[in-house]
Amino acid sequence: MITRTCYGCIHQAEPCVARDAFKAHLIGLRITSVKWKCLQRKTKFNVGDPVWVETYESYDRDAERAEFPGTVARVMGGKALVYIRPEARSRCEDYNFEASGNGFCKIPFARLEDRDAPREDICRYCCLPASFGHVEGYSCAIAKGGGAR
Ligand SMILES: [Zn+2]
Repeated sequence: MITRTCYGCIHQAEPCVARDAFKAHLIGLRITSVKWKCLQRKTKFNVGDPVWVETYESYDRDAERAEFPGTVARVMGGKALVYIRPEARSRCEDYNFEASGNGFCKIPFARLEDRDAPREDICRYCCLPASFGHVEGYSCAIAKGGGAR
């Protein structure tokens, strides 16, 4: 049994004392999936991390898959919500990212890789990296010094 809390944790594939102790408590309860707060949990990717994102260049049916530079905006279990800026150049330099909608994609950790770049602050309201600013007209942008950028 693997607990939901373990997805995305760097210790997921290893023996884990915290998980074993927790499982021992559950014996006999017939539980197959459970979410709990684990003090040992450490995710491979965290909010603000620069990453290479393996995804499609656009929503076209024949779109090519490539790695694009992104920033982790939120972590959800073993997946991350990443932001890729419009027209971002792929790692192989063959494609430009065609942002569909707002540029956010939900990507499993397995399709992310560390990217050598400074960490970024992420806006807690619109989830955009500091280097990009805020969503135009969004209240978080207006609050910071009058007028949307
Ligand atoms: Zn914002």
